[in-house]
Amino acid sequence: MKNLRSEIIKYSKMLNSKKLSALRSGNISSRHKDGFLITPSGKKYSVLKNNDIVFVSLDGYFDKKKGIPSSEWKFHQDIYRNKKEAKAIVHAHSTCATAVSTHKRGIPPFHYMVAMAGGHDIKCAKYATFGTRELSKNILKALKGRKACLIANHGQIAFEENLSKAFELAEEVENISLQYITSHKLGKPKILSIKEMKKVLSKAKNYKRG
Ligand code: 13P
Ligand code: ZN
Repeated sequence: MKNLRSEIIKYSKMLNSKKLSALRSGNISSRHKDGFLITPSGKKYSVLKNNDIVFVSLDGYFDKKKGIPSSEWKFHQDIYRNKKEAKAIVHAHSTCATAVSTHKRGIPPFHYMVAMAGGHDIKCAKYATFGTRELSKNILKALKGRKACLIANHGQIAFEENLSKAFELAEEVENISLQYITSHKLGKPKILSIKEMKKVLSKAKNYKRG
C-alpha cells in the first residue's frame, strides 16, 4: 500500500517533468482492493506526500477526513467499474492532445501507431463540465474498445494493466497528437484503410518486449 502510494506520486511528478501536464492539472489512479487510490484534488504534484493519496471505493465512498480525491474521481470510478482490464489510469492536459481535442475531433489512422490505443482510431469524448457524471458517461463511450481517448476541450486519458504502461500510453497519445498536428502543415494527411489497421492491430499485440 505504501509502495503503491509512492508509485502514484512518482508518476504524478513525471506528469510535470515529462511535460505531460503542468502544475496540478491531470490526475492519476491505481486500482487497489475494492476501489482505487487517486491523487488529491488541486494539489501541486511537487508537494505530494503518501498521506495525500486518497482511497475511493468502487461504489464511490471516501472518507473526507482523510483528504479530498481528484475532482475527476467519477470517471476513474466508472472506468474501473466497466473495464476489468483497467488497473491504472492517467489523465493529462498534454499540449498536443488537448489542442486536437479543442477541435472536438479524434485522431484517424494517419499513422499505424494510432493502434496503440486499442483500435483503428482514437476517439474524442464529447465535452461536459469537469468532474461530472455526464463527462464520465461521454468518456466511457469514447473508450469503447479502446485504452485511450481525447476529451473535448480538455485533454486525454489512458488506462492500462499498470501505472508504467498507462503513463507510457499517455505519452504515446501525446506524441501521436503532435505528429497529427504537424502532418497538417503539408495539407490533409492520407489515412490508412481499416483493412490495414486490422493487420496492424493483430501484429501490435506482440510488439512490446521491454
Ligand atoms: P484535480 O486536481 O481535481 O484532479 O483536477 C485536475 C483536472 O485535470 C480536472 O480535470
Ligand atoms: Zn482534467
